[in-house]
Amino acid sequence: MKYSAVVDSYEKLQGHSGRLAIRDVLAELLKQTPEDELPMLVYLTQGKLLPDYEGVELGIADKLALRALHTASGKPVELVRETYIRSGDIGTAAEKLLEESRQESLFSEQLTLKRVYDTLFAIAKTSGEGSIEAKLKDLVNLLNDASAKEAKYILRTAMGELRLGVADYTILDACAIALLGEKGHRKALERAYNVSSDLGYVVQLASQKGLKGVERVQVQIGKPIRPMLAERLPTAEEILKKMGGDVAIEYKLDGERAQMHKNGNKVEIFSRRLEVITNTYPDVAEYVRQYVKGKQVILEGEVVAINTVTGEYYPFQELMHRRRKHGIEAIMKQYPVAVNFFDVLFSDGQDLTGRPYSERRAELERIVQVTEFTRPVPAKRTKSAEEIEKYMEDSIAAGGEGLMIKDPQAVYTAGARGFGWIKLKREYRSELTDTIDLVIVGAIHGRGRRAGVYGAFLLAAYDDKKNDFPTITKIGTGFSDEDLEKLPKLLKPYESLVKPANVESQLVPDVWYKPKVVIETIASEITLSPSYPAGLDAVRKGSGLALRFPKFTGKVRDEKGPEDATTVKEIVEIYGMQLKKIKSE
Ligand code: AMP
Repeated sequence: MKYSAVVDSYEKLQGHSGRLAIRDVLAELLKQTPEDELPMLVYLTQGKLLPDYEGVELGIADKLALRALHTASGKPVELVRETYIRSGDIGTAAEKLLEESRQESLFSEQLTLKRVYDTLFAIAKTSGEGSIEAKLKDLVNLLNDASAKEAKYILRTAMGELRLGVADYTILDACAIALLGEKGHRKALERAYNVSSDLGYVVQLASQKGLKGVERVQVQIGKPIRPMLAERLPTAEEILKKMGGDVAIEYKLDGERAQMHKNGNKVEIFSRRLEVITNTYPDVAEYVRQYVKGKQVILEGEVVAINTVTGEYYPFQELMHRRRKHGIEAIMKQYPVAVNFFDVLFSDGQDLTGRPYSERRAELERIVQVTEFTRPVPAKRTKSAEEIEKYMEDSIAAGGEGLMIKDPQAVYTAGARGFGWIKLKREYRSELTDTIDLVIVGAIHGRGRRAGVYGAFLLAAYDDKKNDFPTITKIGTGFSDEDLEKLPKLLKPYESLVKPANVESQLVPDVWYKPKVVIETIASEITLSPSYPAGLDAVRKGSGLALRFPKFTGKVRDEKGPEDATTVKEIVEIYGMQLKKIKSE
């Protein structure tokens, strides 16, 4: 196949943005391509040389590209540089610079797809001493035989900047039409792609073996499976309803997803994006070798950083230390990890992706040995929303970020987001675990049952910069009848007819108090508030901070003076800490 035919199609693609038009151009291109060259064509069109999991990377430096262009065009270095900078794209620069010089060279050899692919492959694979010169030579040879248009795409591809805007699924659409003669066969192609993650292979198979061949594609050890993804619903009740009332609930841990392929003694680990991460987690590979039964197994699990003394899990960020190319052995000991396995997709000769969750989970429990570093992720079956909420708390307490709720009947839908798995994160707030000491600066008369006594108090924090007391909340819960009797007596000496000068408040209570009495409170969270002046403008212009669902703990802190109350600065800090938690969820 001539490379010029490929380039003609690329040029047409640049003129289209609609998915259908792109699909039709690709379908034409696939039809023209000989069977044995289909994988090359597909990978190049994706801007790759092989599927990602093979780890062969395109991407020569722009310096090298400029040198090659200078040699191939015979134009001065400065002009080449300038043209590149002005156009902002190596391809456009190449086309411009080569246009004149190429008109004379009508007799040059015509480039083939295979030659372009093989040369780019060799360039990507060359490393070590003298590799720059070798790459340069290869690239110049290729450019010498290329037309200006061909050079444009060769250089873009070599730099890893092809960007044709062609989605993988559009290539599958085109393949269904061009090679299987039927738009509807796209589903089968998609499945084959999702279990093999190799688009070139799937397209070639369609051409060689037709629909039957595509349908027979099986999960294979060593080829990563595109991961199943979870939907999201806000409440346990909705999830129960969606799944028919009977669900499996699992801890959702905050680590890195890993797909582990065990083949005898060899273990390969893939990331969620299907890149090989075996070198990041040699310890995980060892656990799989030792603690997972079976010769050929594909499992999925969450790798989590662990404190080996307490057994606690750390949040995801802790795993960042493992992202090293060198010295991993030492780092591994410093930042140990544990694996919580959550699925098994292949086990001794059997593809399990078509089996229901309940069967896969049973198999998982059979093959995974529970050790300090390995276990099936904690899970249970339930029909009750209440139990789900309780389990959520357990998960959070164990360092998790929520729950994964799984439909016991659901198969493993590779590469798809669906309602077979639904994630339930805890509400987007974090419990304030610390108590907050606040000063009573006012009281509001009660109604109903509280008629005749105070129904709520107005509380303030201490602003140590301004040396005053901005209000932060009203509080009405947590008071016993005894408290409600005792407190007014305690407060009586500090009553004031007007707002005390050192109190800031928009809200006007029935009674003002000089800031003296400090009480201990807890609350579910700190929120931004338009009605309270504490921390005004500290987080957002025009907003202060307030306590949500505050509650009296029953303790009057009579050992504390008003200046010993929680300060505005501390409140702002606690708010910031909450925010961090929300972001990491
Ligand atoms: P998210 O990234 O928020 O869409 O959540 C999905 C991710 O949760 C998966 O990719 C896994 O890395 C992670 N995860 C943690 N625990 C589980 C579990 N028990 N089952 C499935 N995925 C889990």
